[in-house]
Amino acid sequence: MNIVILLGAPGSGKGTIAGKLAAEHDNLKHVSSGDLLRGAVAKGTPAGVEAKGYMEKGNLVPDALIAQMIKDVVAETTGDITMLLDGFPRNLAQAKILEEMGAPIKSVVLVDVPDEVIHDRIAGRRTCPKCKAGYHVKALPPKVEGICDKCGAELVIRKDDNPETVKDRLVVYHRETEPLIKYYEEKGLLRRIDGDQGPEKNAEAFLAAM
Ligand code: AMP
Repeated sequence: MNIVILLGAPGSGKGTIAGKLAAEHDNLKHVSSGDLLRGAVAKGTPAGVEAKGYMEKGNLVPDALIAQMIKDVVAETTGDITMLLDGFPRNLAQAKILEEMGAPIKSVVLVDVPDEVIHDRIAGRRTCPKCKAGYHVKALPPKVEGICDKCGAELVIRKDDNPETVKDRLVVYHRETEPLIKYYEEKGLLRRIDGDQGPEKNAEAFLAAM
């Protein structure tokens, strides 16, 4: 098993790219820290109860809480698998925790999208609460409005996708996560792709870069 990290702002399309590639390639596994946390919140586990308030405000949850979830997934992933790690690490402390887990990091791909584009994207974002598939009312609409193509569940708008919280999440991204670009650049692991080419081309560019 090895790891490819997806770096990028909320709404940069990391989840869409990783979900698409994992559906098309048996040896790729999409692991989203946000999905793990939303799953824990929905189940009401102790970690979920602790995480909920941070997430609703657009803040990062404590490092140890999310690191334990990622550690568990890393431990259960073996064999000829590349893990597409989406949303973790989100700061330098988490990057160091990931290194201590010992799984080799193959590359880090920055999905580059300007903040203005992010605001528009998140405003149109819809998510399947059941199978976690992502949609956009304009760029990636479901076949039937409001209904997931894959599992038929009714699509929802994530609680933290409202404009105020998005602003806060972008501030957190620039402050906490952006320093990772330089960190991985210095390690020679960073690649960049233009994340504003549409879902198909973004995924192709990602696959070529990783
Ligand atoms: P995402 O789906 O990646 O946008 O994550 C949604 C929310 O989950 C974030 O705004 C944070 O509150 C929390 N979260 C996800 N990943 C992490 C992480 N690596 N560290 C801390 N908080 C996280």
